[in-house]
Amino acid sequence: MKRLAGSLLLILCILSGVQATPADSLLAGPKYVLVIHGGAGTILKSQMTPAKEKAYIAALEQALKAGYAVISKGGSSLDAVEAAVRVMEDSPLFNAGKGAVFTNEGKNELDAAIMNGKTLEAGAVAGVTTIRNPITAARAVMEKSQHVMMMGAGAEKFAKEAGLEIVDPSYFYTEDRWRGLQRAKAQDSVKAQLDHADTAKVSLLGIANHDYKFGTVGAVALDKAGNLAAATSTGGMTNKKFGRVGDAPIIGAGTYANNATCAISCTGWGEYFIRLSVAKTSSDLMEYKGLSVKDATSEMIMKKVPALGGDGGLIALDKDGNMAWPFNTAGMYRGCITADGKVEVKIYKE
Ligand code: ASP
Repeated sequence: MKRLAGSLLLILCILSGVQATPADSLLAGPKYVLVIHGGAGTILKSQMTPAKEKAYIAALEQALKAGYAVISKGGSSLDAVEAAVRVMEDSPLFNAGKGAVFTNEGKNELDAAIMNGKTLEAGAVAGVTTIRNPITAARAVMEKSQHVMMMGAGAEKFAKEAGLEIVDPSYFYTEDRWRGLQRAKAQDSVKAQLDHADTAKVSLLGIANHDYKFGTVGAVALDKAGNLAAATSTGGMTNKKFGRVGDAPIIGAGTYANNATCAISCTGWGEYFIRLSVAKTSSDLMEYKGLSVKDATSEMIMKKVPALGGDGGLIALDKDGNMAWPFNTAGMYRGCITADGKVEVKIYKE
């Protein structure tokens, strides 16, 4: 069958005057080496100013370039995803690192995870308040401890001992996010009057409403040695309560990488991503059912997550450099770069 397809292609090429090349390379799409996201949610062009849009595009491009600089020099996918995520953590635009959202108590509690697709090693931190770049702390947990996940004060102590940059919690204060918390708190009570069923669900989670922008950041990369890696970093959800931890630092929920299948980083209403183990289930659909990266991730994001009432999106990259970035929200900040350096950045639905 494949030989027949190859011969047909060859005949077509000759007839159309295209120089004959092996059928396989003609059938293959562009090879992606790095895909990033800056969160999914109610991101509408009507609510965006040109200046803000420009700033997001510039920040996404900067993150892509930081990761690509690693890959193009033959560096590892782990280094690439960490570099890309650090750029977004240092930007106030995204809900990770510097731009993290506030909890109900007016604090910034950060979660992050990283995973090595070659070895299935993983590292994560949850609920940290003083680590400037939580993604680097997650990597330190993976490489310098016997554990996969550390939380709170213990994780901060570990990061300090590992020589990571520690900041005062006030470093994470941004006016924009503070106003976001006040809005969320106000909407919470408005919601209570309008929609009891929905309010019951959302107040159970400690989240004002689900029309939020999930500004979590993430990156997936494929290096020249064929190794995949995934990284995710977040401030969680505005107005979250009582030590709530989302999907981002949970391996298999918001973050997963396996050279045999794909690398994935999720963004969205974390509770649903945890309940459905979205990242690992997508990988399982590829491994055990033979689905493509597009079909596997679309099954989770366009069917399973909304069926439970959740929303969000993800980025995924398979071992052959095919990528997918499904989302069921109005928009998702996202970007990708191919092996030859071609950059694409998008915000809204196509
Ligand atoms: N998934 C994140 C969480 O639930 C939120 C986000 O994607 O922005 O913590």
